[in-house]
Amino acid sequence: MAAQKMSQAAMMMFGAGSLSILGEQIKMRGLSRPVIITDKGVTAAGVSAKVQNVLKEAGLESVLYDDCLSDAPSDSIPVAADAFRAAKGDCIVALGGGSSIDTAKAVSRTILNPGPITDIIGKPGAPDVPIFTVPTTSGTGSEVTTVAVISNSETSKKFGVSITGATLAVVDPELTMGVPPVITAQTGMDVTAHAVEAICGRNRNRMSDLRGFESLRLIVAHLPAAVKDGTDIVARTGMSLASSLAGLAFSDSTTSLGHAISQALAAAFHLHHGLICGLATPPQLELFAEAVPERVRRIAEVFGADVPLDATNEEIGKIAAKKMREFMAAVGLPSLGQLGYTREQLIAQTDMLMAERMKDISPIEINEEVAARALSMMCDYEG
Ligand code: NAD
Repeated sequence: MAAQKMSQAAMMMFGAGSLSILGEQIKMRGLSRPVIITDKGVTAAGVSAKVQNVLKEAGLESVLYDDCLSDAPSDSIPVAADAFRAAKGDCIVALGGGSSIDTAKAVSRTILNPGPITDIIGKPGAPDVPIFTVPTTSGTGSEVTTVAVISNSETSKKFGVSITGATLAVVDPELTMGVPPVITAQTGMDVTAHAVEAICGRNRNRMSDLRGFESLRLIVAHLPAAVKDGTDIVARTGMSLASSLAGLAFSDSTTSLGHAISQALAAAFHLHHGLICGLATPPQLELFAEAVPERVRRIAEVFGADVPLDATNEEIGKIAAKKMREFMAAVGLPSLGQLGYTREQLIAQTDMLMAERMKDISPIEINEEVAARALSMMCDYEG
């Protein structure tokens, strides 16, 4: 058997209230000037101030940079890196959802060698300065993954920059309590997509299975409650753990068709990443059942489906997709139809999807006909 990748994140401190240890963790590494890199939404939710207060209590004066933009546009990286240099910081606190954490991760790779972020595509490397990741959404798992997803500012197409892990991830579910219901649902479906794609992907292994299935179990148990009542700390804690576990699962197995769809649609549709990934999940289950029926069966069962023992692969796929659509409706995920998009508009993106290499990690071959079908099937969900 060839060597299998089983990712270990940077150390992670997890649990409600865990933010309180951030200052001490920074100081014990001999650091004294953290720059918080985040966005205006996180500041408006009061989270930036909370982090600054915690650092102050530990005797640390931090500098706040909260101009990160949605989906981390490439042009925004040198601007944030300049702000870090101007602040004379010695470490980064990457605070926010995936957009801000990915901006900060990219910045951490361009402190010593300033230049366009595109220069380091395909060149994995360590951060130039210590970076502490602190997620405020439960979706991307970016706090523990070794990639920063950046959008090309000219084309809106996304690309990944590799980074060899954060110094420390501090995952405090209390920080996610202000996330509005619709973003909670969308980011929760991003977690679902990570777990499903990791479990079904070609590079899966026992560790990604362990983490992927546990993540799905937590999503079923906690996402509906987190959407219903954002202050439900038990639900928020379940979703925070689900998110980090799924991030680790796809770090080994990698994402496939669903995330290829998200990348292909990013330029034309400008919808939240988690929403597109979520909408692509039922089509994936239906299509992947041909190649990995027992995996799709187990996923369907985690979501409460009763799959007959003699079900054909096609039936397993249809049952799993139906169950997933019911779950999406239960958490209030909007449909493409409700957002004003037509089936024809989706199918028109087939060429864009065919250009995405990530689709080739799927357990089935994605030719043009399958790609068009997958896009079309996203419209089968009616909300
Ligand atoms: P996001 O970071 O874009 O945030 C969505 C919105 O929620 C923003 O307006 C933000 O201000 C707000 N928000 C964040 N935390 C909040 C809080 N606690 N209270 C109130 N509002 C809050 O969304 P996301 O889904 O976390 O990240 C999406 C990005 O992550 C995409 O660009 C995607 O490509 C990327 N991504 C990265 C990885 C990775 O491993 N690096 C994995 C998956 C996705």
